[in-house]
Amino acid sequence: MAVYHGPKCKLCRREGVRLYLKGERCYSEKCAMEVRAHPPGEHGQGRRPRRPTPYGVQLREKQKARRIYGVLERQFRNYFGKAARRQGVTGEILLQMLEMRLDNTIYRLGFTASRAAARQLIRHRHFMVNGKITDIPSCALKEGDVIEIRPKDKKMSAIKDTFENRRRMEDQPWLEIDEKEMRARVVQTPTRDQIPAPIQEQLIVELYSK
Ligand code: SF4
Repeated sequence: MAVYHGPKCKLCRREGVRLYLKGERCYSEKCAMEVRAHPPGEHGQGRRPRRPTPYGVQLREKQKARRIYGVLERQFRNYFGKAARRQGVTGEILLQMLEMRLDNTIYRLGFTASRAAARQLIRHRHFMVNGKITDIPSCALKEGDVIEIRPKDKKMSAIKDTFENRRRMEDQPWLEIDEKEMRARVVQTPTRDQIPAPIQEQLIVELYSK
């Protein structure tokens, strides 16, 4: 599945919040939200912000969610379609599906500093799910699944270094981690309050329900 390869900091500046797309840099003073916290583009600085329309507010919320999880429009729409067909609260199910992607889970576990880094390592076949190498970043995890770094890669410096990021990540109640073995298990589907994403999912539901 295609991914966005353009400038990432511009996405945060457009949304007006840190989306943490670049790993280490996002926690430093080099973060573009520290240096240029105005929208990108020639008229981004100095222009009086216009009052957004209700549609504009919904659109920005959807774009923010897409950008946080690194999903392009068509795939995001597919997620929404699947969520809408399931029983339950559509917005919450949508976030659960995004949260339980393999790339996001690896990021939440602190195995990598960003979701993009997680995607790259998955693509390079460094991770296993239930004992099998998986190279699909969007792989949907379910309760009971075990995620592990491929045994021969556990000493790889890139993985060992980024594993240090774990110290920075909050523990996720829906994931159980064995730090020594670099292995984790999905113990449950995360509830909405266990998903630390600054997204008002109801606005996305309203946008797509027009
Ligand atoms: Fe966003 Fe990270 Fe760039 Fe800061 S450094 S603007 S948080 S991507």
